[in-house]
Amino acid sequence: MTKHIFVTGGVVSSLGKGLTAASIALLMKQRGYRVRLQKLDPYLNVDPGTMSPYQHGEVYVTIDGAETDLDLGHYERFTGIDCTQESNFTTGRIYSSVIARERKGGYLGKTVQVIPHITDEIKNAIRSLDQDDVDIAITEIGGTVGDIESLPFLEAIRQHRQEIGHENGLFMHITLVPYLKAAGEMKTKPSQQSVGILRTIGIIPDMLICRCEHHMEEEHKQKLALFCNVDRSLVIEEKDVEHSIYEVPVELSKQNLDIYVLEKLNLHAHPLDMKNWKAMLKRLITPSNGETEIAVVGKYISLRDSYKSIYEALTHGGIANNAKVNIRMVESEDIEKQGAEKLLEGIDGLLVPGGFGHRGIDGKVDAIRFARENKLPFLGICLGMQCAVIEFARNLCGMKDANSMEFNPKTEHPVIDFMEEQKKITDMGGTMRLGSYPCNLLKGSKAAEAYGGLEVNERHRHRYEFNNKYREEMAGKGMVFSGLSPDENLVELIELKDHPWFVACQSHPEFQSTPLKAHPLFRDFIAAAMKGATIA
Ligand code: GLN
Repeated sequence: MTKHIFVTGGVVSSLGKGLTAASIALLMKQRGYRVRLQKLDPYLNVDPGTMSPYQHGEVYVTIDGAETDLDLGHYERFTGIDCTQESNFTTGRIYSSVIARERKGGYLGKTVQVIPHITDEIKNAIRSLDQDDVDIAITEIGGTVGDIESLPFLEAIRQHRQEIGHENGLFMHITLVPYLKAAGEMKTKPSQQSVGILRTIGIIPDMLICRCEHHMEEEHKQKLALFCNVDRSLVIEEKDVEHSIYEVPVELSKQNLDIYVLEKLNLHAHPLDMKNWKAMLKRLITPSNGETEIAVVGKYISLRDSYKSIYEALTHGGIANNAKVNIRMVESEDIEKQGAEKLLEGIDGLLVPGGFGHRGIDGKVDAIRFARENKLPFLGICLGMQCAVIEFARNLCGMKDANSMEFNPKTEHPVIDFMEEQKKITDMGGTMRLGSYPCNLLKGSKAAEAYGGLEVNERHRHRYEFNNKYREEMAGKGMVFSGLSPDENLVELIELKDHPWFVACQSHPEFQSTPLKAHPLFRDFIAAAMKGATIA
């Protein structure tokens, strides 16, 4: 039988619930249990795919093509366990299926209501994790306790735990314990009130995870235990970590959180194996091969979450090379105003990530020109590859107005074109080329060297593609098509002949990178950047 852990958040948002859930999953996995994670998001979009990164941060894509919350990225990076369509449900998705069923006559004769129909549908989503190969399912509820929109989710988890029995389900509440500088003390009242709200809806947390900036005194833990009705041993401190989010699981296990969770769920605590994880942390925190500086030129730079997986994958590339990666975040529009020469001076490598829409394109193109001309290692991802093609066409093939059909449908040289399969699609949500697709690599290419094989699978999220009309001409000028779809119709990877390391891909390799196993392209990109750094 699958046991369930429900993670709620109190007092404020941005507590790092996803990181905590991912950390607990890792600890359970390293104690020999088979774990799955899931996030329930109380907003009305069916998925975050139609939201701007400024609204929501990055859209994370699963192997099976779900466009999901970025917390799923933490889940996969910490545990190495693949998420699926079942790993993220929103209010919009839950309501869509209930309404579709109502139209089909699925509730014939009945009044369809939030309780029980919406809550039942939420419970179905939770139960989709009850599989033979899942010992422990961890479900994180997005938002903050007290939000009107999370009520149906909280009612559903309350009912679900009641149905499966207390020894099979656990409520974990992550809360903020702030330090008031003026008063010189930590305050437990907001957490007490948040637990109070949970109690009014029938949920008594079994465990409190206290997010704080300073160590909590024993007195605070006892106070919280007493007023929140939680065993003292189950009041766990989660202080801000010093160097890296990957320290969180280790810090939590120092307080035996994993043992208490297993005890509560009536599961045996097998030995915990964190050897590899700790070795990784050591390389991350005290790297022995120096530093390298990578510029990331994007259009949503002011919000760190917009390129979450990119930044993480760069860090993983650093771990693999025993080096510290310093990231220079550059707004592409600033390059348009001030020039690549000025803003990219001194970097060891350039990464241009994915994106949508016309704003900032010329800045990205100019940044890529700078990397190409100065022989700086370059990694282009999705839109980053498309911009590399535009740059090549404009500056090396004399096609001055070369562009993507996304940005200038009237261009004389549409080097990036709308994908054939996309032409008949009118809906915006969930209709891109999504999820994992195979790709064959060219023998002897940088990509083949990095991957160490010729057949790979990568995740995608795009509507536009390289226009095959230009393949021959660009190949003649030194572009290498190092990755193609198995039918050879779709360009998946490009490289440049006369350049030490210039690789760009239509896919999103950042989604498959983990701290224990950096994605090969990120690993080799960082290695190339470090080589350049020593020559200079
Ligand atoms: N906007 C481009 C496309 O749809 C690139 C998408 C991306 O970078 N994810 O093809």
